[in-house]
Amino acid sequence: MSTKKSTVTPMMAQFLEIKAAYPDALLFYRMGDFYEMFFDDAIAAAEALDIALTKRGKHDDQDIPMCGVPHHAAEGYFLTLIRKGFRVAVCEQMESPAEAKKRGYKSVVKREVVRLVTPGTLTEDSLLDARRHNFLAAYAVIRDEAALAWVDISTGAFHVMPCSGVNLGPELARLTPREVIVADGSEADWAGIVSDNGATLTTLGAAAFDSTAGEKRLCALYKVGSLDAFGGFSRVEISAMSAVAEYLDITQKGNLPLLRPPVQEGQSAAMQIDAATRRSLELTHAMNGGKQGSLLHCIDRTITAGGARMLERRLSSPSCTLPVIHARQDCVEHLVNNTRLTEDIRDQLRGVHDLDRALSRLALDRGGPRDMAAIRNTLGQAQALAECVTGDLPSLLADAAKDLTGHDELLALLDDALVAEPPLLSRDGGFIAPGYDEELDEVRKLRDEGRSVIAAMQAEFIELSGIPSLKIKHNNVLGYFIETTATHADKMMAAPLNETFIHRQTTANQVRFTTVELSEIETRILNAGGRALEIEKRLYSSLTQSIVALSGQLGALARALAEFDLATSLAHLSVAENWTRPLVDDSRAFEITGGRHPVVEAALQKAGEPFIANDCGLTDAPIWLLTGPNMAGKSTFLRQNALLAILAQMGGYVPAGKAHIGIVSQIFSRVGASDDLARGRSTFMVEMVETAAILNQADDRALVILDEIGRGTATYDGLSIAWATLEHLHDVNRCRALFATHYHEMSALSNKLDGVENATVTVKEWEGDVIFLHEVKRGTADRSYGVQVARLAGLPPVVVERAKVVLEALEKGEREGGSAQKAIIDDLPLFSATPAPSPQKPKDSEVETRLKSILPDELTPKEALSLIYELRDLI
Ligand code: ADP
Repeated sequence: MSTKKSTVTPMMAQFLEIKAAYPDALLFYRMGDFYEMFFDDAIAAAEALDIALTKRGKHDDQDIPMCGVPHHAAEGYFLTLIRKGFRVAVCEQMESPAEAKKRGYKSVVKREVVRLVTPGTLTEDSLLDARRHNFLAAYAVIRDEAALAWVDISTGAFHVMPCSGVNLGPELARLTPREVIVADGSEADWAGIVSDNGATLTTLGAAAFDSTAGEKRLCALYKVGSLDAFGGFSRVEISAMSAVAEYLDITQKGNLPLLRPPVQEGQSAAMQIDAATRRSLELTHAMNGGKQGSLLHCIDRTITAGGARMLERRLSSPSCTLPVIHARQDCVEHLVNNTRLTEDIRDQLRGVHDLDRALSRLALDRGGPRDMAAIRNTLGQAQALAECVTGDLPSLLADAAKDLTGHDELLALLDDALVAEPPLLSRDGGFIAPGYDEELDEVRKLRDEGRSVIAAMQAEFIELSGIPSLKIKHNNVLGYFIETTATHADKMMAAPLNETFIHRQTTANQVRFTTVELSEIETRILNAGGRALEIEKRLYSSLTQSIVALSGQLGALARALAEFDLATSLAHLSVAENWTRPLVDDSRAFEITGGRHPVVEAALQKAGEPFIANDCGLTDAPIWLLTGPNMAGKSTFLRQNALLAILAQMGGYVPAGKAHIGIVSQIFSRVGASDDLARGRSTFMVEMVETAAILNQADDRALVILDEIGRGTATYDGLSIAWATLEHLHDVNRCRALFATHYHEMSALSNKLDGVENATVTVKEWEGDVIFLHEVKRGTADRSYGVQVARLAGLPPVVVERAKVVLEALEKGEREGGSAQKAIIDDLPLFSATPAPSPQKPKDSEVETRLKSILPDELTPKEALSLIYELRDLI
């Protein structure tokens, strides 16, 4: 975009100047009711949004590409663009065209970028999933220390923790931020991890990460003299937090969101679960990326958006701290034993709005009267809830109950100030209740009286003129005017009526007049209306201030409501699904009696089939080697035990008859790796990379789940890798593990290694078919029933028959030695079920003989063509 000044219009000059400051964003340039995009932005946006690309004027003698979207529909377009990886700089008109004109002929309306819309900084309700967090994260590295800070600007939650490079992946997998900020120049180090976790990478200059300037910035932000008030932060933690603050400043143009005091998270506090494990266990998302089919979706009985977000948070980071787990379990237990109370609380929660997000929108000046009403209604509901939770409560809920009350003053204020159902936007007024502000009541009366005066005036004019069809109307050009049909024009314009009526306009069918009196009333109405709007605007800001000033208290209330919602929803679920309280302690136990997989169970329930509950005991022998045919239920069993540990440490009940789980610090799960073609890795490679990660990281508190490892390579390679892996888990990692394999040979390991026990998922054979019992028992599978399973899957009968014969031969060969085996297979009649080939093979035809004689690779195109002619002649 070179600028040749002579051909640049003042508007284009302004556009180019603003655009230069936002090279990485699409500039939405406000023009009246539209946002318009120019040049390359227009081309990119038109394609991404599938809207028409047009032209507007010329620049350097070239047409300027342009496209536009209506301003009222812009949010939807923002979302599409953000999903496609763009950022949007929103450039607004900062004055009206009239004001610009006053400054001089040809002055361009002042415009400024008021906001940068990026994936991590969305606040609009319509752009966000109410039940999910929307995190923006920053990762800072100072020498050999590193930290991750993250914020949800739609709720103000702000966290920071030390986070080494190896842990970045797992942490991002836990938090799933939309956007991650790193320092300029370091993007190559982190781009892979960030994009693997579905986030957009953003870079900021090193200055944004400066911890000294950052500390000052954060102190100013929180209006404190020292950050120590919130905890002892390391330099690198301050650096990460400072980058977040800087980025918010840049994107929100100084209009900083309401940030809650930063909370420090320790790395050991949460169970470590890396991205691959989350995916394979389908914790918050199913394999296909959707929510349905995930554990979260299956257990979510929360009523409020805040409760749903808290559930997602807890499920994504189960705790490793016993007192935290026990306190949460106590809440669920109390509510399970008081189902009446549980349901009463849930009823009250139905009237609760999304307090966090309403508050944050108001603080960002992106809210409206409806957000205020949401806060008012929620305060009222919280009071009602407080009344129904009297009596003894477990400590966590007792603390939460304290935060439910104490908002009387704000509630009374909002009750008095707002109408029952205010409009979405403050722009048009009409949200302040009558009786709240005397001056407002007065001007409103004046404005409304004016309107009734006009109605009376119309009657008066009809009488005066004797024209019953005369009307007083209003439009934006003329304001109020009197209108009659053209047939009455002469009468109106002659004496005596022309003394009262002043002619304004004649249209095809109508004539329009005014009177002195009408003009005066009009001015009064307009003034009163304008004045009313002004007063409402003033009251709106003062209400906003009163609300935002209490943001700390309101944040605590939001958390309390979410705590009640989460505890009651888990209790409700546990009662409905017959779950139990697990015993969680710091032993090395893992004893499950009658465990179930909640997601598979729910799916089976829908189909009217029972789920077979299974036991699992890793206390004495910490490793189970599980064999059994495909489809028997091995993967289900493996995953269900990992899910039980997660649910237990989240502080909830578990789908089991009884459970005793010694704290699990890390969970690793590798279940059926799939090709990662996008990164050019085969199934086998993915599997080996992931297995390496487990063997290198798992400590003696880890729970490891390995399913069919070594499947992706030749039998003996696979068997040896699986074998060595199991030995390593047993001797070096010394963790608890469930290991499913189809290599029956591995069962022998249990004789050699004390800590390994064999288990199998049972099946029954009946009339040649296999019946899956889905029962897990100690012992080894006698065979793999692959052939029978293949038949169930619909493999052609001839193939099944042939496979059976080969299998028998192989097994016999194994018993009698390798050479015997080969001889047996070679001896076997091929496809005995198919018709025998005819004894005499017919002779080749001329065409066939000729075709067999050619070497296609050596033919030139011309020779190939002449060969085709030759062949045709042979037919
Ligand atoms: P495998 O890993 O042995 O191939 P899966 O765990 O994938 O088998 O289970 C196959 C199917 O069997 C599941 O989709 C489920 O419908 C059913 N299933 C598994 N476990 C159970 C169970 N305990 N009770 C009832 N049905 C089960």
